Amino acid sequence: MHSDARQNRAPVWPSGPAIQKQREMPLNQQTLSRRLERVAAHVPADARLADIGSDHAYLPVALLHRGAITAAVAGEVALTPFRAAERTVRENDLEQSISVRLANGLAAIQPADAITAISLCGMGGETIRDILDSGKACLSGHERLILQPNGGEQPLRQWLMSNGYRILLEEVLRENRFDYEIIVAERGDPVHYSAEQLYFGPVQMQVRSPAFLAKWQRLLLERQRTLASFSRARNVPEQKVQDIARQVRWISELLA
Ligand code: SAM
Repeated sequence: MHSDARQNRAPVWPSGPAIQKQREMPLNQQTLSRRLERVAAHVPADARLADIGSDHAYLPVALLHRGAITAAVAGEVALTPFRAAERTVRENDLEQSISVRLANGLAAIQPADAITAISLCGMGGETIRDILDSGKACLSGHERLILQPNGGEQPLRQWLMSNGYRILLEEVLRENRFDYEIIVAERGDPVHYSAEQLYFGPVQMQVRSPAFLAKWQRLLLERQRTLASFSRARNVPEQKVQDIARQVRWISELLA
């Protein structure tokens, strides 16, 4: 946890000469987690960003301070994180550039915001999918989506494919013993992904980064243990056994 968050205080980003010094540093590691730092790297320069489920609004505040984006909306559905986001924005003197809104999902976005990028991070993939699906009317179709699901990547990719989004970039990173995935997508020509591509990620299957392969090595062991426990247990539905067996087969083929 961020040290300022532990003290229940919004961090105040440096300004003036201090921010200049900070800009010269390769990363603002003191202000964003590595996970959010990687998300930040996929936000296009000069974007008008909607960060939905913003919690403390750390991502839009850091990006605004770096001059990486021009404006932002920080959307929150819950009152306590909404107030935390308001506090971070106020204490960093960014009320002119960041609108903090209490709203469910994409309802935080208004046409006048002219949003060009939307980040949805730190939620389950199914939750992100549901937010996108129920908020379709708020999407112009021109926004870049920067998604960081905590699990549930397969149904999220399925939604992207079914709704005309092409996956441009993907990455896996490990932080604090968790594997995180980032999926970047934009509307484009219709694309078809196979069942395996939806499961592993079409770009990740191509790139085969060390973090991606290490994640699936860990998951292979986990699934193999589950399958072994099924064979000792009674009354496990056959469909469940078949599902895990198929995953073990796919992962073994991927790593072969
Ligand atoms: N995005 C930040 C990050 O990645 O560090 C915060 C992640 S936090 C675990 C998830 C946040 O999403 C919570 O503050 C929660 O209230 C918010 N959230 C969940 N469902 C939401 C929804 N439908 N609309 C807006 N915010 C939502």
